[in-house]
Amino acid sequence: RGKRRGRNTVVAFLPEFADELRDRIALGSRLREAIEHEELTLDYQPQVSGLDGRIVMLEALVRWQSPDRGLIMPARFIRVAEDSGLIVPLGRWVLERACRQLRAWHEGGFDDVGVAINVSAHQLLRESFADDVGEMLHRFGLRPDAIELELTESALMENVERVLGTLKALKTIGVRLTLDDFGTGYSSLNYLRRLPIDKLKIDRSFLAEVSSGSRDAAIARALIAMGHQLQLQVLAEGVENEDQLGYLRRNHCDQFQGNLLSGAVAADDVERLLRQRYLRPESFEATRPDRV
Ligand code: C2E
Ligand code: MG
Ligand code: MG
Ligand code: MG
Repeated sequence: RGKRRGRNTVVAFLPEFADELRDRIALGSRLREAIEHEELTLDYQPQVSGLDGRIVMLEALVRWQSPDRGLIMPARFIRVAEDSGLIVPLGRWVLERACRQLRAWHEGGFDDVGVAINVSAHQLLRESFADDVGEMLHRFGLRPDAIELELTESALMENVERVLGTLKALKTIGVRLTLDDFGTGYSSLNYLRRLPIDKLKIDRSFLAEVSSGSRDAAIARALIAMGHQLQLQVLAEGVENEDQLGYLRRNHCDQFQGNLLSGAVAADDVERLLRQRYLRPESFEATRPDRV
């Protein structure tokens, strides 16, 4: 649209652009302090077994509780953190906090639950990353397979060659790796075969109309089958209704996460969920996976 109106039109876009830029710069400089002043918090969202709704993992999701701006969601500041390099100290804070919390849950008697941590490709590009993770596990006395790192497809694929060594080092330690938002990036199947990953998270954009016999349904089913052929577990994210859950369970999806089961909640509320342990048992009674 801008092109058709000629070159001068670009001026009309500037104020908006400048606003956004100013906002990002301001956020960036505040974010540095936020990390130091403990303004970040983690919420956790359960991931449940597709067999019975039992909570198997909790995904740590960072929030920024800013004294002057209120609650800021990661969609607004993760990119800023990546562009400014602050993602490294931020990621380290998240890793430490999540490991500390997991240790507390284990000590509280929930010792078979694990935590999933989102990791930016910028963190993987640092040579010390695998060692840092190993040290953290040691410090909190955690089994390596209690930790799962979620890596976004798009970020990973742009850097495959450079991060492969780090991924292999993490696998040697025994940490599990998940490909997040699967289907939204440009994953070459060739890369998929080479990456030492354990799980695919099907992006929620494929689940919107999954129950209506649409193309989404066919794609979701194909992604599950492909994951299983590659010996990967498959998790569906963003499950919001019974129809989605039913369809995905009938097609042997291994794990589920989404607001139908539970949104992201504070650590204290996780403990309540862990005491009950099974989410929406009535849904898991109602439908059983088809026999193969
Ligand atoms: P993600 O890793 O794909 O996390 C899932 C996002 O979907 C979360 O948003 C979650 O609250 C939301 N969600 C879960 N279930 C549902 C549902 O049923 N419906 C809908 N509409 N949404 C659902 P959130 O917490 O805002 O996080 C957004 C993204 O920010 C994450 O996407 C992840 O890529 C990034 N992120 C979050 N925490 C971290 C972190 O500690 N480090 C890094 N590098 N990235 C993070
Ligand atoms: Mg994630
Ligand atoms: Mg995701
Ligand atoms: Mg997502």
